[in-house]
Amino acid sequence: MCGIIGYIGAKEASQILIDGLEKLEYRGYDSAGVAILNEGKIEVRKFKGRLSVLEENIKEKPVKGSMGIGHTRWATHGEPSDVNSHPHKSNDNKIAVVHNGIIENYMEIKEELQKLGYSFISETDTEVISHLLDHYYNGDILDTVKKVINKIDGAYALGIIHADNPDMLIAVKKDSPLIVGIGEDENFIASDIPAVLKYTRKVYILESGEMAIVKKDSISLMKTDGTPITKDIYDVTWDIEAAEKGGYEHFMLKEIYEQPKAIKDTLLPRVSNNGEVKLDSINLSKEYIKGTKRIYIVACGTAYHAGLLGKDMIEKYAKIPVIVDVASEFRYSEPFIDQNTLVIVVSQSGETADTLAALRLSKEKGARVLAITNVVGSSISRESDDVLYTWAGPEIAVASTKAYTTQIVALALVALEMAKKKNSITDEEINMIIKSLKKLPSRLEEVLSNVESIKDTAERIYSSQSIFYIGRGIDYDVSREGSLKLKEISYIHSEAIAAGELKHGTLALIEEGTPVIALVTQDKLYDKMLSNIKEVKARGAYVVAIAKEGNIEIEKSADRVIFIPKTIDEVSSVLSIVPLQLLSYYVAYKRGCDIDKPKNLAKSVTVE
Ligand code: GLU
Repeated sequence: MCGIIGYIGAKEASQILIDGLEKLEYRGYDSAGVAILNEGKIEVRKFKGRLSVLEENIKEKPVKGSMGIGHTRWATHGEPSDVNSHPHKSNDNKIAVVHNGIIENYMEIKEELQKLGYSFISETDTEVISHLLDHYYNGDILDTVKKVINKIDGAYALGIIHADNPDMLIAVKKDSPLIVGIGEDENFIASDIPAVLKYTRKVYILESGEMAIVKKDSISLMKTDGTPITKDIYDVTWDIEAAEKGGYEHFMLKEIYEQPKAIKDTLLPRVSNNGEVKLDSINLSKEYIKGTKRIYIVACGTAYHAGLLGKDMIEKYAKIPVIVDVASEFRYSEPFIDQNTLVIVVSQSGETADTLAALRLSKEKGARVLAITNVVGSSISRESDDVLYTWAGPEIAVASTKAYTTQIVALALVALEMAKKKNSITDEEINMIIKSLKKLPSRLEEVLSNVESIKDTAERIYSSQSIFYIGRGIDYDVSREGSLKLKEISYIHSEAIAAGELKHGTLALIEEGTPVIALVTQDKLYDKMLSNIKEVKARGAYVVAIAKEGNIEIEKSADRVIFIPKTIDEVSSVLSIVPLQLLSYYVAYKRGCDIDKPKNLAKSVTVE
């Protein structure tokens, strides 16, 4: 995820690009840059750090020119640094490109281009695009772009300028968002509407497989094969703040709805069509995995809850014992660590203080450390031996949603990679699990479209004093995350209990009308959960069950049932958490809470 802006007109481009990037900083902020065409030459300024670094530089030494492109980055390939920042240029400095997304086949293209003599200066996937454009350029820029698009796989929004074609910006869109802003004697391209709202309220919204040739006084829209298309102009009626949230009222809701895409981005580049896992940056050899006697998963909060699911999958697939610990406990404990121990640390921000301390302790004791994080170049990513990034894009709401589900997917990939290397499950089983993982985004869309019954449930329970969550196995792990989500944004007291533990204490707290959210998605534990539901019902509980489609029998026992699509038990967590995220959201909404910034909490916990 990142922000793209482009301008062509009669004004100085630099200020317009900076203004636009400011509105896009929520999409990425580890570095920023612009490329501006000035007297036939492209001048690039780009710097690691917040946009203010670039802004200062341009203030001190202005760049002239009335057309250009800009970018604010959220790194996926290569750490945040000046060279890895966008725009990326061709070797002859004639082409500049900004890119949002991931080019999945960049490694093979890079090798081909290197053989042809192209030199690469960055570690990004994006740089292949500027060299490919140069390689195919035959005087016809449109034809050149078509050839490049045929060559690259993955998700992208692109902004391109070419010094030999000084009258146009080129915008290409596949999966990542891109719009064209329609001005008078000036036009724009941008990742998101707020970037152009200061100048125009009229935009074209590009769809996947479409592109635009944007000139000062004309815009040509076409499919990426060159077929011309027409589009309705979209008149923007909302204000900038609403626009940044993509029309959602809160970042949390937007991020909940971004989960299908976040999961696709995290998963698809790492699984081949024939069902093999390819963990790009990870160096866990067969010998190492075979020699691994124990794994610790160490994390805090939501990431710890993802770790619990990691344990289930690693133990089941790779047959290696896993201990999951909260980082603030682990760091002061006496963990059983030696050279045969792998420590997996999980942190959205990659800066969580306790997790970082746990990582350092583990390394001191001789363990190998694998990090799962969302932030390229973060402290945890730099200090770990291996990193597997979740490609969820920036998460702004304090309550984590898309980071959690992508962490589960990343842990599933690690478990499968280990299982494959250990031969602990068959290729057929691996294939079957990958197939189920690949279906998650579309199944998630189904869950997300079934929001009315969740809103209704929120209406029924929002004024409760206490809400309990129960489940067994994986459902218990998910209950813990559901309960945390509720308490952190709605401030209602909540606990998650292993359903079989109820009668050992917590059952005493169930009274007439106490809401109990029961997760019942595990086939083998279905009957046991039905008994637990009866147990709380008998004490007057108001039971909301989360169950797999088809389990209609449960409607006889629970007061309400929210169904999720069928999938294999192991990955059902990615689906069953989503109604719980939405329920927390709507309960907090009804209570008038500050959902994106809950009291007493911060997004990145960099203190002990
Ligand atoms: N994959 C590109 C990079 O790492 C683009 C990332 C983005 O969307 O900001 O530079």
